[in-house]
Amino acid sequence: MQCHAKTIRLDLIHPFRISREVSTYKENVLLSITDGEKTGLGEAAPSAYYGENATAVHDALARVPSLLGKNPFDLEDTGRRLQTHLPECASARAAVDIALHDLAAQRLGIPLYQFLGLNPDRTPTTSFTIAIDKPDKIRQKVHEAAEYPALKVKLGSEHDLEIMRTIREESDAKIRVDANAGWSVEQAIYMVQALAEFDVEFVEQPLPPDDLDGLRQVRAAASMPIMVDESVLMAADVPRLADCVDGVNLKLMKCGGLREALRLIHTARAHGLMVMIGCMIETSVAITAAAHLTPLVDYADLDGHLLIANDPYTGVTVQNGRLILPEAPGLGIKNIV
Ligand code: MG
Repeated sequence: MQCHAKTIRLDLIHPFRISREVSTYKENVLLSITDGEKTGLGEAAPSAYYGENATAVHDALARVPSLLGKNPFDLEDTGRRLQTHLPECASARAAVDIALHDLAAQRLGIPLYQFLGLNPDRTPTTSFTIAIDKPDKIRQKVHEAAEYPALKVKLGSEHDLEIMRTIREESDAKIRVDANAGWSVEQAIYMVQALAEFDVEFVEQPLPPDDLDGLRQVRAAASMPIMVDESVLMAADVPRLADCVDGVNLKLMKCGGLREALRLIHTARAHGLMVMIGCMIETSVAITAAAHLTPLVDYADLDGHLLIANDPYTGVTVQNGRLILPEAPGLGIKNIV
């Protein structure tokens, strides 16, 4: 099997501000793996927060050909080799894992959800993200998101309650709040109580990732579920969180691909936790890969491709906020150009 990787610059429709950073573009790495007949597509969306960038992804992917076996169906063994040899670059592992799943399902001529044994009628709705911004911009974004039954609102700024009031003036949609680790324990307890009047569905990552005692305190003070994102990367992170929170937000780019995502989902279920699947800023390649897993989760936040102006691909679509999986073999990705 042969690999080819290239960097792609993704331009954001709006500058994307969360509690710790603002960005106007993103550099991801697209990967293709071919067996001479079929070509599987994968994508790495490296995260500076987790110490990754496009150069690190290329360095990691340069080592991949020697780690691939001859058989694209050998997904578990290949995944173990990638985890052993590329532990520092989860997004590069995700790119390889996604491309191999695409290739394997294409070889069988079936869509990826069928390869995974999942029912495409069980996909949830996806939320649409409203990043931190000025009130007039937030109003504009809420109107742009009118099709979506749930808004994912980024907080952790100086103006959190003003943002919430602005959104509630414009929309009756469900609101999910994501503080991206931007609050202290005292701020988080104040905020979960203040947010009660805004009919918030859940609050995600109120505190820094390792503050488990703090998470227990916030959860005890909150009337809505508390989820974590930055606190959980892989399945092995789940057990210690089980008595601190109500659910976990997994991402292919944090855990290293679909195989580990499946382990994470089942581990979370075994601990009685709710499961959400989220994303980074990604093209339709990685978003569609994650979408094929959504029949297994409670919540989806898969709008990363909708925030960019130059997605070169189409795959999963959204109808009335619900994810519609492509029927074509593999991921079902099509190149737009
Ligand atoms: Mg999050």
